[in-house]
Amino acid sequence: MSRAWLIGAGPGDVELMTLKATRALAQADVVLVDDLVNPEVLQFARTDARVVHVGKRGGHPSTPQAGIVAQMLEHVQAGRSVARLKGGDPFVFGRGGEEQQALHAAGIEVEIVNGITAGIAAPAAIGIPVTHRDHAQGVVFVTGHGAGNAEPDWAALVATRMTLVIYMGMRRLNDIVGTLLAAGMSADTPCAAIESATRPEQRHVLAQLGGFADAVTHAGLGSPAIVVIGGVASLALERAVAHANAVDAQ
Ligand code: SAH
Repeated sequence: MSRAWLIGAGPGDVELMTLKATRALAQADVVLVDDLVNPEVLQFARTDARVVHVGKRGGHPSTPQAGIVAQMLEHVQAGRSVARLKGGDPFVFGRGGEEQQALHAAGIEVEIVNGITAGIAAPAAIGIPVTHRDHAQGVVFVTGHGAGNAEPDWAALVATRMTLVIYMGMRRLNDIVGTLLAAGMSADTPCAAIESATRPEQRHVLAQLGGFADAVTHAGLGSPAIVVIGGVASLALERAVAHANAVDAQ
C-alpha cells in the first residue's frame, strides 16, 4: 500500500528532525522537497528515491501549489509512497493544511509528521525562551507577509503584551515596526531577528524597536529569518548557542 506523508524537516539542523520523520523518509519512493529544507536531510531518504525540488519562496521562481498536489496525487495513485518535506512544522505557515485538504478531497490519506517550527527554534538558537514568565504570558505566531485583508491586526496584538514571533516578516519589517510604534508599543521594546537559524550560516541582530528596522538593514539580514518582539528578546545571549551539529564536530 502506498502512503503519503507531510513531514516537517525542522528549521535546518539535521539533528533537529524527529525519528518519525527520518523513518518515514526512509520508506518513500518519491520525495518532494521545499526550498527551505536543508538538503542534508535527504541523507535519510533511500538512495533510489526520486527527489523532486518544489520550492515556493516569496518572490522566487516556484512550483505552483496546485502542481505540487497534482504530483503527490499522481504518485500515490500509481502506487508510489510519497514524502512531502517541508521546513519547520508542516502545519505552521507552510500551506501543509491546504495540501492535506486537497489530498483528502481526492480520497488520499496523508500522515502528518510534526517538525520543530522556526518560531521556537530560531529564538532558542540565540538563547531566547519565547514564554519566559518574567516577560510574557504567551507567544503569538504571526505572518508578516499578509497584505490587504490578510494583514494581522497589529494594534490588537500589541494590546495582548505577548511575545510576537513574526514569520516571513523581513520584506515588510519597516512597515511592521512603524505600525507597532503607532499602536503604542514602546520604542525600547527588545527585538531580535535571526536569519538561517540552526544552520552554519546563522546570523542575528538585536536592537530596540525604535532602531530595529535600521539595524536589520544595516546588517544586511534577509530571508529566511524569524523576528522576535518583546521582553524575552532581552534574554538573547551575546554568543549564539552552538547548534547540534557541533556534536559531529567533536
Ligand atoms: N513551516 C515553517 C514556516 C514556513 S514559512 C516552520 O514551521 O518553520 C517560511 C518562514 O519561516 C520564513 O520566511 C522564515 O520567517 C521562517 N523560517 C523558516 N526556516 C527558518 C530558519 N532556519 N531561520 C529563520 N527563519 C526561518
